Amino acid sequence: MNDLLSLTLQIVYNSIKNYALNFLSEDILLPLLRMKKFDIPAHYRSPIISKVKAKRKLEDPMKKDFSPTILDFGSVEFIISRHFGFCYGVENAIEKSYKAINENPDKTIYLLSQMIHNPEVNRDLQEQGVQFIQDTQGNQLIEWDRINSEDIVIIPAFGATVETKQLLEEKNITFDQYNTTCPFVEKVWNRSAKLGKDDHTVIIHGKKNHEETKATFSHSKETSPSIVIKDLKEAQIIADFIHGTIDASAFFEVFQENCSVGFDPEIHFNKVGVVNQTTMLASETQEIADFMKQTMTKKYGQNNIKLHFADTRDTLCYATNDNQSATLELLNVEADLAVVIGGYNSSNTTHLVELLEDKFKTFFIKTKDEIMSADEVHAFDIHKKQVKRHMGFLPKKDKIKLIITSGASCPDATVDAVIQRILDLTNAPISIYNIDL
Ligand code: SF4
Repeated sequence: MNDLLSLTLQIVYNSIKNYALNFLSEDILLPLLRMKKFDIPAHYRSPIISKVKAKRKLEDPMKKDFSPTILDFGSVEFIISRHFGFCYGVENAIEKSYKAINENPDKTIYLLSQMIHNPEVNRDLQEQGVQFIQDTQGNQLIEWDRINSEDIVIIPAFGATVETKQLLEEKNITFDQYNTTCPFVEKVWNRSAKLGKDDHTVIIHGKKNHEETKATFSHSKETSPSIVIKDLKEAQIIADFIHGTIDASAFFEVFQENCSVGFDPEIHFNKVGVVNQTTMLASETQEIADFMKQTMTKKYGQNNIKLHFADTRDTLCYATNDNQSATLELLNVEADLAVVIGGYNSSNTTHLVELLEDKFKTFFIKTKDEIMSADEVHAFDIHKKQVKRHMGFLPKKDKIKLIITSGASCPDATVDAVIQRILDLTNAPISIYNIDL
């Protein structure tokens, strides 16, 4: 009886959520989502950053002001991004994962792959006994044969491919209860399905090996011819084909692995729409969408553009937008350096680094432990994809101005710890834990 009730409630909840995601405008949807308070472990919350965020939220409930918060400690002035850290999807995934652990003490609990791209959160889950079935590249860590219907399988915030869900169903493993797929990722899937219904081809701007892009592509190809492109350069190759400057074999040389089975560029570029991996650089997705619109306008004429190009601006995730807009605002300040905190395989964090390093000496670190001393830091180079040792980390001056921000999968407590580490190294007179906001 309890199972039936829980299933019914789940179906009702999913129907309401799908309705809200598909039919409510962002102006109504976002305040509703923001009202939701998640129950996440206390050690992810922070005594100080949470206060900073709460204060800003109170002063600016409609999130109109993207200017940073300044915390002045005398020896260091921290210029803190207006928006950063855990987003709706991440808090939802953490809440559900810990619920799965607490509700099933006698069962084996698996996660399809890393729940989010943050090493501390993933390690914490593993220490609670959660096992990852695949790594982030899709390599099998635990054979499917070992997993059975008695076990619990959690779907991460990125979602899962149609094929994986089918496999779980064949093994009678129910996953709805602990499916943590972010509603904003599902929104992209729903939009792709709608595009397919209207005979559009779905162009997905994303990294083809990223879990979310794999899941989005897998859902999209069920209803629409689909292709994954990584940047504007690849959009240019599609445009070259549409304008007849390259032929199908040149097209497939680049896209053979990245388009749905049976994809025929001669037929499938008649109507297109662009969606994205939600953590891509929003401005780049927009640039690609604008470029594809221009391409289709050139081919079919301004009067017919609505028949050949779908406006899909509404699929960009609010958190990615907010975090990137707040980072762009940081480019207007003067600072000695910038520190970005997050997992090195986190796409959204990498984009924050990309934006900041245009103007500032920027260090991308996982935790406070990468700060070896005032002079030495071990930071990730997003271009060479490796951790490098840097000397001359903190400048030798009376007051250092330091920008700080973090990715959507980084706990606020980790940001607190980095701030405190820098305060210790600069002999600041007060601790972060004692300041009065
Ligand atoms: S970044 Fe956006 S899409 Fe990704 S988990 Fe967070 S809210 Fe969801």
